[in-house]
Amino acid sequence: MQEAIDPINTSETMNVLFMFIILLVLIGYFTEQWLGYLNHKSGQAKLPDILNNIFSPERYKTYLKYEFESYKFTTLVSLIKFLLSIFMLLCGFILLDNFVSGITENQVFRGLIFFGILGLVTDLLFTPFDIYDTFVIEEKFGFNKTTPGIYLSDKLKTYLIAAIVGGGMLSLIIWFYQVSGNNFWWIAWAVISGFSVFMAMFYSSLIVPLFNKQTPLQSGLLRERLNQLATDTGFMLKDIYVIDGSKRSTKANAYFAGLGKKRRIVLYDRLIEEQTVDEIAAVMAHEIGHYKLNHIQKSILIGIFQTGIMLWLFSLLVHNSLIYESLGAVHQNFHLGLVIFMILYSPFSMMISIGMNSLSRKFEFQADKFSSGYVDSMYLISALKKLASNNLTNLTPHKLFVKVYHSHPPLLARIQNLIKIRN
Ligand SMILES: [Zn+2]
Repeated sequence: MQEAIDPINTSETMNVLFMFIILLVLIGYFTEQWLGYLNHKSGQAKLPDILNNIFSPERYKTYLKYEFESYKFTTLVSLIKFLLSIFMLLCGFILLDNFVSGITENQVFRGLIFFGILGLVTDLLFTPFDIYDTFVIEEKFGFNKTTPGIYLSDKLKTYLIAAIVGGGMLSLIIWFYQVSGNNFWWIAWAVISGFSVFMAMFYSSLIVPLFNKQTPLQSGLLRERLNQLATDTGFMLKDIYVIDGSKRSTKANAYFAGLGKKRRIVLYDRLIEEQTVDEIAAVMAHEIGHYKLNHIQKSILIGIFQTGIMLWLFSLLVHNSLIYESLGAVHQNFHLGLVIFMILYSPFSMMISIGMNSLSRKFEFQADKFSSGYVDSMYLISALKKLASNNLTNLTPHKLFVKVYHSHPPLLARIQNLIKIRN
């Protein structure tokens, strides 16, 4: 009788690995809950004097209610997501893998069907929650402008984009894996990097128009003011657009996107309605700061570097049969390997995201400083205060929550920084 190489030891290692995977999911979930709780408590703290005039007493009560409802809702959704992950690890992934294996022998099609079903079922499962969030919570606090028609068409368009972009990238990567063996990781890296640069350039002109209208700034007082600012800072006025964000929500924003000739600054229509000409100029100077200081290029470069490391690590693990067997799979396959790798990688991806958020907050301070070189920083302060009040922002987020999740510094820190620059 032939014996497999030390079967007891192998199955023990498999069990240990499986327990380790479950432990990672548990730690991830409880960390998230703990940080969310800290932030919720911190969000109810008494406001420091400097922030005291942002909310009227009435608005502050509304904020407290909104914060509490959002917190309860997020906690419920995370609990369901967590239970679903445990179910998938215990039997869901294997059941799905067996089903997919029965359909086709082709690894590319197997991967596509596996992730297609996984993505679609998960999304459909969470759609009722999303509908509740949009049409009940956001509606109750006066934020929602989305109609069921817009909601449905957004969903269908998102599915279509996910199928084309996600499906296309996944097919390519699995195909590289099949034809080039261990070399697949750097070929995939080159393709993903090229694609991310392409998307950074064309996102505003290819994807955004599927959902929103972007129109050039109309002539008038605001245009004249921004024209002056554009001349002062060396930015092209033709690259400033107004987006119809009010189609979905009353929450306002502004952002800078694109690279090189495809750069543009996008201002939400609500921002233009709510803010004075000087405040909008201050916000725009901040966005021009992101452009002048090459923040997009720097973020893309770091992102490309991280993707390379991730794919290389994945290439070291993808051939190891233990990781498939830990879930009970009998054969190696790319899609299960990817799922398990993403869980094993989650502590690193959390650390990377903390690092990226820290860098992003630094960029925000830099752009604020740039803005104050062209427009009196009192206007940026009042613009930020208005945005915070209208969006019912948590003005006192917890320090740890900010460190882990926030790409922007808390309002208080930005105001203090701007006052320091001004004096
Ligand atoms: Zn910014």
